[in-house]
Amino acid sequence: MTKALIIGGGIAGAVSAMALQKAGIDAEIFEAYPTGADDVGAFLVVFANGLEALRVIDAHGPVVAHSFPAQRVEFFGNGGERLGERPIAGTEQGTDLGPRTLRRATLYQVLHTEAARRGIAVRHGKRLVGAETVHGAGGKRVVATFADGSRAEGDLLIGADGLHSVTRTLIDPAAPRPRYTGQNTVCGYTRDAGTPLAPDTYTMIFGKRAFFGCTLAPDGEVWWFANVPGTELDRSRPPAVTPGAWRERVAELFADDDTPAAAIVRATGDRVIASNAYDIATTPTWHTDTMVVLGDAAHAAAPNAAQGASMAIEDSIVLAKCLRDGPDPHSAFAAYEELRRERVEKVVAASAGMAKLTASGTTGRPSSQDRAERGSAGADNWLTGYRIEW
Ligand SMILES: Cc1cc2nc3c(=O)[nH]c(=O)nc-3n(C[C@H](O)[C@H](O)[C@H](O)COP(=O)(O)OP(=O)(O)OC[C@H]3O[C@@H](n4cnc5c(N)ncnc54)[C@H](O)[C@@H]3O)c2cc1C
Repeated sequence: MTKALIIGGGIAGAVSAMALQKAGIDAEIFEAYPTGADDVGAFLVVFANGLEALRVIDAHGPVVAHSFPAQRVEFFGNGGERLGERPIAGTEQGTDLGPRTLRRATLYQVLHTEAARRGIAVRHGKRLVGAETVHGAGGKRVVATFADGSRAEGDLLIGADGLHSVTRTLIDPAAPRPRYTGQNTVCGYTRDAGTPLAPDTYTMIFGKRAFFGCTLAPDGEVWWFANVPGTELDRSRPPAVTPGAWRERVAELFADDDTPAAAIVRATGDRVIASNAYDIATTPTWHTDTMVVLGDAAHAAAPNAAQGASMAIEDSIVLAKCLRDGPDPHSAFAAYEELRRERVEKVVAASAGMAKLTASGTTGRPSSQDRAERGSAGADNWLTGYRIEW
C-alpha cells in the first residue's frame, strides 16, 4: 500500500489524511507542536465550497455541529451610517451547507478528532527540518528528518505545513517567502460589548483609520477582528505588546469614529490576540517527484477573503483524488496543480485587493461593488459554488 507522510496537522493535514484514506492510501501526520496545532486564537468562516468539499469525505457534520451560521453582512461607514447589507452566499447555490463561523482552534480540534476516530495516526512534536528522495528496489521513496533527530520514510510527502512552510523551501530553495501586507489582524472576544447585534450576521465597519468586523456567537459572546496598519510583529520572540496594550491601540484607532467599534474593543478583557497578515502572490514550484505542497504552504492569501481554510480543504480532496487516479505521485501532483493553481491564485489576488480596500488611508467610500465583495466574497458563484466530484 502507498504510504504518505503528511507534514503539518492543521486543516490541510487532517483533511488530506482522511481523503487519502478514502482513496486507499495510508497516511501518517507529523505535527510540529507537542499538542494540538499552531493557532493564534483567530476565528474564521468556512464557506459552502469548503463544507461541500468536506462532505465528499463525510467530515462536514462535526464542523457544522461546532460552529454557527454566518448568513449576512451589514456595512457601516465611520459616521455610523448604514452602507448596505447582503446575504453571504450559501444556500442559493444548491446546498444545505451555508457558511459557518468557528474558532480556528475548534476547527483543528474537530478535524483531528474525526481523523483519530478513523484510525489516522498523528505524531506530535515532529518538526520537519529536511527531506530527501532515495532510490529503492520499489522505486523512489522519500525520507523526512525531524528536529528531534527522528526520521520517517514513505512513498510521498505532502507539505501541509502552512504559511511558513519548510516543505516549500525543500521543494524549491528559491521559493518566495511570505510577504507582510502591512496590516496586523487583531481578534478579541467579549461578553460585555453592550451593543445589540443581530444573530448570524457580520457587522463590518469602514473606520477612518482601520477596518472592524464582529459577529455574535450563540452564547452571547461578541467575536471581533480589526485590520490595522502596523509593522510586522517578530514571530521568533514572545509578544512585545501585551493584550491590554493591543486593546488600547485598536480602540484608539476607532475613537474618532461614530460607531460601536471602540466601545466593543474597550469592553474586551485580555482575550486580544494580534498576528501579521501575509500573502504569497505565486509559488512557482509546487512539487518534485515525491513531494508536494497544499493549503497555505502552496498559496497563502491575506485573511480578507476568508477563504484560506476552504481552499486548504478543497486542495486536500483534489490531491487525494489525483493520487487515487494517477499512475505515480509525480503525475498525480501535476494533475493536482493543473486543477488547482488558477483558482487558488485568483483567490490570493482577490484577497490582496480586499486588503488594500480596508487598509488605512482608503479615501472616500468604497464602491458598492467593493463593499459587496468585502466579507461576502462568497457572493461570487465561481468561488463558493465550486464542487468536487469524487
Ligand atoms: C487572523 C486570521 C484570520 C483568518 N480568517 C480566515 C477565515 O475567515 N476563513 C478562512 O477560510 N481562512 C481564514 N484564515 C486563514 C486560514 O486560517 C488558513 O488559510 C488555514 O489555516 C490554512 O490551513 P493549512 O492547513 O494550510 O495551514 P495551517 O492551518 O496553518 O496548518 C499548518 C500546520 O503545520 C504545522 N507545521 C508548521 N511547520 C511545521 C513543520 N516544519 N513540521 C511539522 N509541522 C509544521 C503547524 O503547527 C500547523 O499545525 C485566517 C488566518 C488568520 C491568521
